[in-house]
Amino acid sequence: MSELLVNYVSGLWQLGSGSGSTLFDPVLGDELVRVDATGLNLQDAFQFSREQGGRALRALGYKDRAELLKSILEVLQAKKDLYYEISQKNSGTVKNDSAVDIEGALFTLGYYAKLGQSLDNHYFLKDGDPARLAKDPLFQSQHILTPTPGVALLINAFNFPAWGLWEKAAPALLSGVPVMIKPATATAWLTHQMVKDVIEANILPPGALSIICGSSNGLLDQLQPFDVVSFTGSADTAKIIRSHPAVTEQSVRVNIEADSVNSALLLPQQVSGPIFDLFIKEVVREMTVKSGQKCTAIRRIFVPESDVNVVKEALVASLSKTTVGNPRNESVRMGALISRAQKQTVLDGISRFKGCAQLFFDGSSQNLIDADDNSCCVAPTLFGFDKASDAMLAKDIHQTEVFGPVATVLPYENLSQALEMIAMGEGSLVASVYGDEVVELAQVAADLAAFHGRLHIISSDVGAMHTGHGNVMPQSIHGGPGRAGGGEELGGLRGLSFYHRRTAIQGSTQVIEAMFSGSNS
Ligand code: NAP
Repeated sequence: MSELLVNYVSGLWQLGSGSGSTLFDPVLGDELVRVDATGLNLQDAFQFSREQGGRALRALGYKDRAELLKSILEVLQAKKDLYYEISQKNSGTVKNDSAVDIEGALFTLGYYAKLGQSLDNHYFLKDGDPARLAKDPLFQSQHILTPTPGVALLINAFNFPAWGLWEKAAPALLSGVPVMIKPATATAWLTHQMVKDVIEANILPPGALSIICGSSNGLLDQLQPFDVVSFTGSADTAKIIRSHPAVTEQSVRVNIEADSVNSALLLPQQVSGPIFDLFIKEVVREMTVKSGQKCTAIRRIFVPESDVNVVKEALVASLSKTTVGNPRNESVRMGALISRAQKQTVLDGISRFKGCAQLFFDGSSQNLIDADDNSCCVAPTLFGFDKASDAMLAKDIHQTEVFGPVATVLPYENLSQALEMIAMGEGSLVASVYGDEVVELAQVAADLAAFHGRLHIISSDVGAMHTGHGNVMPQSIHGGPGRAGGGEELGGLRGLSFYHRRTAIQGSTQVIEAMFSGSNS
């Protein structure tokens, strides 16, 4: 039997008492490790984290905690080779795709370590300036942000076991809030290894970082009013979390990152030249990186009706060069989906789209490299329409996230129709827009903003330096309205708000000033 990963709760390594769920290599089908959380005393685990971890973290200032993040980063950097190895085995990804997860995690951690150094080494944060409440300026209102005295329960999706951990844990720990991480079972190994390395390096106070691998049973029942939940995953699970009594009756704060049918928009008159090339390159990259298993991946490709054929030809030419198969073979550019279940879900999505759109490109006619049909490899598949009037009616395409290397070309007759169709996604994480008219780009950005958490605007002046449609940079917020879950993470210091409580202090100017005079440095 494969190794059973050990949970770390209440400051102790604790095995689950069941036989556990097995994690597999999605290319070779080999059993890798098992996870199990049966029989853990979750009440004690949350209490320990809340009391010991929370108290110890809050006794430090922001700069002190930034130092902890820096030390964590150093430990993880030294173990990178192991993380790439686990990622290849458990996620079935080629090196470049593993890097999106692993290097993305380290970059985000480093970013928050640095950002924390810019804060006062105080116990709480100042929020805005004092506002006079009476005629006499002596009586004022000053808002402050204090770390919430609870646990941050972080529940993650399978597609980012490294980045998903640290993009949530770094802002939480910097805020002074202990973390209880529950990774998605299918890829829990990498998250577990990173947590293990950090715990063994003895950087954090006891209770500051805990990990539960396996079933989520009973986790939400432990939540108390000052705890917070940050969830990334499907809309169905999000619904369960939102309706849990801890949330509905005790106001436990929840952040949801869910499905998203993201868009790329090619503006008119761009059919040749650098903008067109940037657009094609980005669409292909987004369809194939991590086999399209990115919440930010481009799913809907909007192009002027007159340009459909040119776009189709360029995309097909590029997609047909994508080699798919075993990531251990150096000629492979795209590895596998994460599991048989995900493969089936994606194949079902492809069948569904075949019923409502034309098949522009079917990569499955090409042979897999060093892999067979038993593997979880699925080749890129491009759908499309010739006419804008058909694209307008394709509700399934606008509202279904097929979580794999699948996207659809949607023609538009005029810009307002394109914007209308983009909005039919009912709220997305990100849209990218490609054009060269500054005023037009600015107007489109303003028109699309309310429907998105992030807009990636590409003109030729930024073509060589842009960070990518799907790359989540910690400087910018990540999250989106509506279908995307309504959440908000990262965005520099904004990412700390979720882990703090905002309070208005009404009092004498002298009292308010005294609150900020102490520092624990
Ligand atoms: P999922 O099935 O909803 O699982 C997400 C997490 O929730 C896993 O850790 C899962 O644990 C846990 N979970 C399942 N049932 C639960 C319950 N009743 N209570 C508490 N936790 C529960 O999603 P997934 O298949 O891992 O991820 C794919 C989805 O995530 C896609 O739809 C994608 O769009 C979305 N996603 C969004 C973002 C974003 O930032 N917006 C990023 C990445 C992915 P188990 O694994 O043990 O079941």
